[in-house]
Amino acid sequence: MKILATDLDRTLLPNGSWQSDSEAISLFNQLTEEHNVLVVYVTGRNLDLTEKAIKEFGVRYPDVLCGDVGTSIRKYENGQWTFDHGWIDHVHRESPRWDAMAIREVVSGVQGMREQESEHLNQFKQSYYVEHERSEQVLKEVDELVKGKFDEVIVYSFDSQDGKGLLDFLPASATKQTALEYVAEEFGAAKEDVVFCGDSGNDIFPLTAGFRGVLVKNADDQLVENVKKAMNKNPDLKIYFAKGDFKGLKGYYTSGVIEGAYYYGLFN
Ligand SMILES: [Mg+2]
Repeated sequence: MKILATDLDRTLLPNGSWQSDSEAISLFNQLTEEHNVLVVYVTGRNLDLTEKAIKEFGVRYPDVLCGDVGTSIRKYENGQWTFDHGWIDHVHRESPRWDAMAIREVVSGVQGMREQESEHLNQFKQSYYVEHERSEQVLKEVDELVKGKFDEVIVYSFDSQDGKGLLDFLPASATKQTALEYVAEEFGAAKEDVVFCGDSGNDIFPLTAGFRGVLVKNADDQLVENVKKAMNKNPDLKIYFAKGDFKGLKGYYTSGVIEGAYYYGLFN
């Protein structure tokens, strides 16, 4: 079983300021079907926003959706989504001290951040917008209040496209990385048979978790730097940087995903 897992925004989806290839999405849809690759979307989007992306950009339905930055897992079969309740039980077992409401309470006095809208929150995802200029101070305060108390991870990412700082509190066992590990195990795929493609922020975790990694050509400088650091520390990591000029494709977004999938032999 070969798995092609990918982030959505600005990785599979061409919704940034770089130049996309008009034929890339239909090529992605066609190649993944033809070669019988299991497609997993690993995204910050919830189900509703994922459906919107599928309609807006014409990308295929995935076989599995790790949504809400890995805090929910759904399968798509015969035109229907099935929510994975086993994942919820798994996370409760692995992160027993997790308590979203308690985190909400302890950070309520921190200046420079505000809670995201309810559709971006769930039992495993307590999320905030952060004023990016104040992010250093905010993160310092948040660390003091939360770190190590709730079996949590604290993930900050900056969306350079719209200038938004995003702060997620998640159970340590429910991230993009652990959700993908769970899916790989369920389908009996070894880590080296899973390719993960990303472009920014929280993609660092699945990229450096022992899967085969791909950075699309438009990846954030910060992510490129962090990935290179991780590769220096751990020479066993396999990470491919899309270059473009490949089968007439430029290497940004979907084209970078296709280039990376070819590199690891998924479409051969
Ligand atoms: Mg992205």
